[in-house]
Amino acid sequence: MPYIQFLGAAGTVTGSKHLINTAHDSSSKHGFQILIDCGLFQGQKEWRERNWQDTPVPAREIDAVVLTHAHLDHCGWIPRLVKEGFRGPIYATQPTIDLCSVVLPDSGHLQEEDAAFYNKRKVSKHDPALPLYSLKEAQDCQRFFKPVAVEQTTQLSPELSFRFVRAAHILGSCMVEITLQTNGRNRRLFFTGDIGRVRDSLIAPGKVVHSGPQENETADLLVMESTYGNRQHPHTDPRPELARLIRETAQRGGSVIVPAFAVERTQKFLFILKRLMETGQIPRLPVYCDSPMAIRAVEIFLKHTEEYTERAAELIKTYGSPIEWPGFTFALTAEQSKKINESHYPSIIVSSSGMVTGGRILHHMAQRLPDPKNLVIFIGFQAPGTRGAIIKSGAPEVKIFGDFVPIRAQVAALEQFSDHADPPEMLEWLRTFKNQPGATYLVHGEPAAAAQLRDRMKKELGWNVQVAEYMERVEVK
Ligand SMILES: [Zn+2]
Repeated sequence: MPYIQFLGAAGTVTGSKHLINTAHDSSSKHGFQILIDCGLFQGQKEWRERNWQDTPVPAREIDAVVLTHAHLDHCGWIPRLVKEGFRGPIYATQPTIDLCSVVLPDSGHLQEEDAAFYNKRKVSKHDPALPLYSLKEAQDCQRFFKPVAVEQTTQLSPELSFRFVRAAHILGSCMVEITLQTNGRNRRLFFTGDIGRVRDSLIAPGKVVHSGPQENETADLLVMESTYGNRQHPHTDPRPELARLIRETAQRGGSVIVPAFAVERTQKFLFILKRLMETGQIPRLPVYCDSPMAIRAVEIFLKHTEEYTERAAELIKTYGSPIEWPGFTFALTAEQSKKINESHYPSIIVSSSGMVTGGRILHHMAQRLPDPKNLVIFIGFQAPGTRGAIIKSGAPEVKIFGDFVPIRAQVAALEQFSDHADPPEMLEWLRTFKNQPGATYLVHGEPAAAAQLRDRMKKELGWNVQVAEYMERVEVK
């Protein structure tokens, strides 16, 4: 019997990895095996340690990877999979491949930095500490990527084909429809990846990609994300509040620090800042975009015009490339990055990683958190256990580079910038399904979020919904 096995993002929001085994022939060892996504575990140590474990299926026995999008929690384990012997194709859309060419080497670089840090401090049990994968290994795995157009059917084996449909989550993001032939009939397996905002308007400002995930789907078995399963996005326009927070910080001589994913969230936020400046709602403070990936990510964004919403297209037409805006500096070298730290005039610093787990944002946080004049604004999801979640929770201090840094700066969070649908939006989208799936498994959510969404889907839709468990196998009947 064919089966799906949840190798990650079960009981947590990171490490997305779902195995499909067609197991077509009981005499053979295994059937055709593909992974939907191959993400990195992030956040709590218990989860991060899983990045170091072998896959339950030897990597060389996996035939292909189908990748939904370029966020690290969906693609960040690919270089490790290749390091362990995977040699098959990795199917993704062209924008996803372009973004991965930036995101994965950067992740390799951070892995190397982490290992070097542990070796310097000699705080690792392992001597010497090694990176999960290196920058070079991440670059090398690019040759396995194969571009696939949205809505094109690709036959992977005699019994299994797939098609990407729009997820409206980030640039290039897609959901995966799998058609699997078993016992003489076709079964449709549907993997949502991350689900974008269903309604695009003032409540999700600055959205770059197509508005709304693909509607009118059919599925016999649905595997669905539940990141925001127990929360609801505010329905107010966040820009007036953002403008007020920035004005107040500038008036007291402080700086604004914004941890943001270098891909998508940073570009979206820069355009929002630009418009607020051009319309006189905030002063023209210097803006430092301090992420080595940001310039390349901007270039990728400007290239993929086919992905824009009308509003994004209009913004880009009006203001052009952020790289050329006066007053906006894109830091490239470590030296340029350090210069930002030496500046004591009010400024806005947008830097990654978005959950303060690594990267240059650490230096900016260590430098600016102790001063009450400064402001930290979170504009993205903060997974439990990350520094971002600790700072956002109102903790008095946070550990950065092995030292405790007092948190005296003002801390704010604007949830409206989320690229994930919330429960009302998810239900609205699910109601467009042409049929009721025989079973739905919720993944990519903290236990409380997944449980609450499960209950709501059962009650409001009457669907058969379960929360997927780590390593659980589900037969496709
Ligand atoms: Zn995502």
